[in-house]
Amino acid sequence: MRALGIGLIGTGFMGRAHALAFNNARAVFDLPCQLMLAALADADTERAQRCASAWGFAKAHGDWQQLIDDPHVDLVAITTPNHLHYPMAMAALAAGKAVYCEKPLATSLQQADAMRRAAREAGVVTRVGYNYQHNPMIILARQMIEAGELGQIISFQGEFSEDFMADPASPWSWRCEVEHAGGALADLGSHLLAMARYLVGDVSKVCADSQTVHGQRPASPGSTEWRSIAVDDQVQALLRFTNGAHGTLSSSWLKHGYKNHLSFEISGTRGTLAFDQERLNELRLFRTGDPGFQRLLAGPALPGYAAFSPAAGHQLGYNELKTLEVQELIMALAGQGAAGTDFEAAWEVERLAAALRLAVREERWVNVSEI
Ligand code: NAD
Repeated sequence: MRALGIGLIGTGFMGRAHALAFNNARAVFDLPCQLMLAALADADTERAQRCASAWGFAKAHGDWQQLIDDPHVDLVAITTPNHLHYPMAMAALAAGKAVYCEKPLATSLQQADAMRRAAREAGVVTRVGYNYQHNPMIILARQMIEAGELGQIISFQGEFSEDFMADPASPWSWRCEVEHAGGALADLGSHLLAMARYLVGDVSKVCADSQTVHGQRPASPGSTEWRSIAVDDQVQALLRFTNGAHGTLSSSWLKHGYKNHLSFEISGTRGTLAFDQERLNELRLFRTGDPGFQRLLAGPALPGYAAFSPAAGHQLGYNELKTLEVQELIMALAGQGAAGTDFEAAWEVERLAAALRLAVREERWVNVSEI
């Protein structure tokens, strides 16, 4: 069996999620290659060493370029702040390595465009961390929509809200920098845009509004030094899909009470499907003639679920979705994948986000083809 060397950059929230996913994927799936945890890099060398040993990586680096140059690394996983995706992915692609990059793809459309072109030229597999699409319930939702079970789709109402920045005393972080991140739209809204495209299809025009509610935040936890914030805290938008459906989108990191409220209601001429990531093992379905909504529950009959549990109702979690994403990536590397978001598809998400930002700036409807 061919060995595949994994190089992981970053040891934060997502670095841990990727490390768990690679370890879990080789434990639960019958993969076409043997995953070798070759190297882990973090700007904090001591932390890189500690995490490499805890997570099972053979080597630790303080310099990410050394990880990319490492001949034992075939696939580079990037889990660093958004502005570092571009230089890291471009270096990995230049070295002919496959890339698994966290979302959003980049901090500007120009960078995203250069990344998809470089991926095309390198001819390697790329994937971007739009993990929510790998939920068996979301795959089921897409199958039901494609099979016409809701009739013709007429509306998408989507929201992705959390409250981790709701407290005005929540300190500045890289997520608050225009050049390093891009606000609630980039952080949360990008997932929702990817989901809308995955389930309903291409968007042709948008109109949007956004707001920075807290223009200053403490420089660090408890600090009396304040830093100015220019990124959006919340965004609202109207969408027109090319298939004729109309839609709404809202995203906020200030909405008290919501922890991972990636949710949507999709209605067609014969029914409605509803989903909330806070109850990720469920879909609510109504079809004309039903007495009310019925609850569909995830179970082993759905693709991917049985790898984790033989019993319905025992529930998958966030880290299982990440593991399913890794499985699809590994299958793609073996020439058997198709469902994941590659750099080309992730660029489409960035293009849509750019259309929303232009609509906000110019206070008008924007055709996505203008971008
Ligand atoms: P984080 O701040 O928790 O972790 C970032 C990591 O990058 C840290 O370990 C930091 O030391 C490391 N780092 C920073 N600069 C570096 C450098 N020059 N070289 C090497 N390492 C460096 O951030 P996070 O929450 O893990 O987010 C990271 C990425 O993951 C972001 O792009 C974010 O949008 C994305 N993300 C995705 C999801 C998802 O569901 N797919 C969820 C959260 C975050």
